[in-house]
Amino acid sequence: MKIVDIRQISVPLEGAVSNAVVSFAEHDVSLVAVITDVIRAGKPVVGYGFNSIGRFAQSGILRDRLIPRLLSADPASLLGAQGFDCEAVARTALRNEKPGGHGDRAAALGALELAFWDLNAKLADEPAYATIGRAFGRTPSDKAAVYAAGGYYYPEDGLDRLKAELEGYIAAGFDAFKIKIGGASLADDMKRIQAALQACGTGARLAVDANGRFDFDTAMAYGREIEPLGLRWYEEIGDPLDYALNAKISANYAGAIATGENLFSTADVRNLLNFAGMRPGKDIFQMDAGLSYGLTEFGRIIALMEAHGFDRAASYPHGGHLINLHIVTGMNLGGCEAYPTVFQPFGGYSPQCEIGGGFIRPADHPGFGLEAKPNLKPHLDKISA
Ligand code: MG
Repeated sequence: MKIVDIRQISVPLEGAVSNAVVSFAEHDVSLVAVITDVIRAGKPVVGYGFNSIGRFAQSGILRDRLIPRLLSADPASLLGAQGFDCEAVARTALRNEKPGGHGDRAAALGALELAFWDLNAKLADEPAYATIGRAFGRTPSDKAAVYAAGGYYYPEDGLDRLKAELEGYIAAGFDAFKIKIGGASLADDMKRIQAALQACGTGARLAVDANGRFDFDTAMAYGREIEPLGLRWYEEIGDPLDYALNAKISANYAGAIATGENLFSTADVRNLLNFAGMRPGKDIFQMDAGLSYGLTEFGRIIALMEAHGFDRAASYPHGGHLINLHIVTGMNLGGCEAYPTVFQPFGGYSPQCEIGGGFIRPADHPGFGLEAKPNLKPHLDKISA
């Protein structure tokens, strides 16, 4: 068995939503296809991956560095006991790269390495959660807790729009929600939070996300207002790499804090665990395999969390899409984000994934089942044609 070709394209995100820091109108995502010489039903077996959402496509790094290294490697060196050896794939793709500086390169390898997990699951003719569970010595769950991430700032916005958005999520089977803060004044954001609470009933079902925008004084001005509401969590409050700031906030804010979606390596997470004041049994981690060198590195990150006294149930990966659904169920993590209305064609799940009672069940398509997502399928067909 060997790789015949590895292709990548950038796919624009649809829509014009914003959080406190960025507009997604110009964002795109790298989609990777790994084409093998294995023929099933008259077609080559192809693995697909993408670099989650939020850090742009990484075409240059993939095209100029990572993909040529894999295509020029000894094919046997990339094979494992079952299918491809994803650790060898990641190591080979990063040959001659210095350590540290975990930026766009981590998302490029995320898209590429995850395509090999899709491929391995298809070669074994099973859903990816089964392959992932076996690889990490876990018994996969048949469902995962899920929350609807929305409440973005829209060009045409209003409290009624926000409330109707959350009511739509409730009708769709969600029972937990997240909205953005920090893109308006504190007074206006508190009106948004109160409108959201009218829809979802209790603070325990509502998280808020500042997308790394706040300094300490702003963080605490919001913190004093929201602490009595008992919110589910207060997300990415300050700069994601300012561990001292996170530690200072966690010492002064009694509710749960969530962070980690913009940490892309085990080394960065080690610093978070050592220096950011994260509290076992309370705080939430959101590292995302597609942004952090793929699932091999993500597995090291989860192991490190556990070695520091945190339960893997504290992991709610950023990125509400099919790849993370399989990772969460395969590795028994805390739960999934979902983007029911945004970040298409990557956000959300295929119609066969059942959502209800605050849980989502993955379907049993081989691999991540990306082919079963109707608006993603044309892009998969295009890249593998
Ligand atoms: Mg976030």
